[in-house]
Amino acid sequence: MMRGMMMDRPMLVSSVIDYAAEVFPQVEVVSNTVEGGIHRYGYAQARERIGRLANALVGLGVKPGDRVATLAWNGYRHFELYFAIAGIGAVCHTINPRLFPEQITYIANHAEDTALFFDLTFLPLVEKVAPTLKTIKTYALLTDRAHMPASSTLPGLLCYEGLLSEMDAAFTWPEFDENAACALCYTSGTTGEPKGVLYSNRSMMMHTFCLIASRPDLFAYNKRILPVVPLFHANAWSLPYVTPVTGCPFILPGAKLDGATLWELMENEGVDAGWGVPTVWLGLIDEFKKRGRKPKNLKQILSGGSAVPQAMIDTLTRDWDIEVTHGWGMTEMSPIGTITLFRPDEQKLQPLERAKLSALQGRRMFGVDLKIVTEKGEIAPRDGETSGELFVRGPAVTSGYYNNAEATKKQMDAEGWFGTGDVAKVTPDGWLVIVDRTKDLVKSGGEWISSIDVENAALAVKGIANCAVIGVPHPKWNERPLLVVVKAPGAEPTKQEIMDVLGSKIAKWQMPDDVVFVDALPMTATGKISKKDLRSKFADFKLPDMAGG
Ligand code: ADP
Repeated sequence: MMRGMMMDRPMLVSSVIDYAAEVFPQVEVVSNTVEGGIHRYGYAQARERIGRLANALVGLGVKPGDRVATLAWNGYRHFELYFAIAGIGAVCHTINPRLFPEQITYIANHAEDTALFFDLTFLPLVEKVAPTLKTIKTYALLTDRAHMPASSTLPGLLCYEGLLSEMDAAFTWPEFDENAACALCYTSGTTGEPKGVLYSNRSMMMHTFCLIASRPDLFAYNKRILPVVPLFHANAWSLPYVTPVTGCPFILPGAKLDGATLWELMENEGVDAGWGVPTVWLGLIDEFKKRGRKPKNLKQILSGGSAVPQAMIDTLTRDWDIEVTHGWGMTEMSPIGTITLFRPDEQKLQPLERAKLSALQGRRMFGVDLKIVTEKGEIAPRDGETSGELFVRGPAVTSGYYNNAEATKKQMDAEGWFGTGDVAKVTPDGWLVIVDRTKDLVKSGGEWISSIDVENAALAVKGIANCAVIGVPHPKWNERPLLVVVKAPGAEPTKQEIMDVLGSKIAKWQMPDDVVFVDALPMTATGKISKKDLRSKFADFKLPDMAGG
């Protein structure tokens, strides 16, 4: 092999904000603040404050490789932390505030975080868990002096704005190996103990570039992008890097993510595209209906994190003229793996025809390799029929969990692919179909029932606001599906009506054995339906044909 003769310049996250400051100085980052009111500035001013923050971090003794934690909503100060921490060679550890306090303690101690920056909202939480945090020396509140509490149990609590005001804005980024870690995010523990995914500068840049390369249209000039997906989860799907690189305005929604607040912000800020999990869009669609219209510029929704129901895609396409892009991914993949990608012939299809393809999980993003391994250990053909466990590989896919050899061993195969724990198939046209999480499949006799398929069918029933299918124990079949339904406001769908509609959409053996109605479904810390909680809630549920026996 002949070695190329190009410069070996490291790909560093810090270059992103420098680029935006220089090329898109006035392009805005807009934040709905925790204190109240809107904050706005351009990328140039962001860079200036990031410089101050970098000086402050160095002054506080943060060293390359140190983990600096955040507990914060989507706001400009959190955005600044992303770049200042990574820029000095430290690791930005975003903690999900929706986790149980014990999980936060576990994560912060496991990561050995040395400092914690947090929003006002989380002051009571941080004061509560602080005595259990073994390695944190610095606590800083992401607010100005006027909003600092009169007193706090936190030792030496710092004021973020106070800190920045005393610092110089000039800061030249150090250069180091692009494989240096820049960020850390723990999986939410939906399927077990939280596990740390440690991103490198290189992997973050690769993910950013691959996403832009695969769907450049999503980031065309001046597109105003609003991430509902939190900066504390899976790098907010890498939007904090993609928007400065492409010069897109970045609209950060803060702490309130209900339909009404999102609608107002989208309307006032002329948001073109929203990114987030399906449950968020259900709330927003309700708001469209209440007001009789969508926010004026909203044309695109990128939805992922769990399967996007066909009924939702159809409603958004047909009734609201919004194009839905569907993504599948995992924290371990930085996080995007596949995304709706139309070929030229598919682009010519009618919107509702295209919407059918959008319900599939998408085609692989450039830079992501997929491999499906059947139960027999064979590679599944791309026939749209044969399913198996999905393995992935790529420059932005984890090679193992942080300080957790046991979990790493379980997940990596002998050839170095990462096992996703998802069961999937690929169509001859290259569309990935996620059948289910292995743990969520209903194992009925020798057959596996995809909870996603049954939910998708049920969500097309009028009067169902949301639903989930879980397997409940059955003496003969091992497990049978139970459909748990939340009714739409004012609607009264009956069990019979639901079963009738389902009967026309899915096979008999896939039909739920029973339907139960609940007021709300339990949610995970990342806004997905918690099947784990549902399964334990209905662990002793007696299916009808077992009644009395
Ligand atoms: P957590 O497991 O804590 O929820 P992740 O966001 O990393 O955190 O979850 C990744 C998992 O979410 C995937 O392995 C898959 O099971 C599910 N998932 C993500 N996107 C989709 C999608 N578009 N369709 C179906 N399942 C999805």
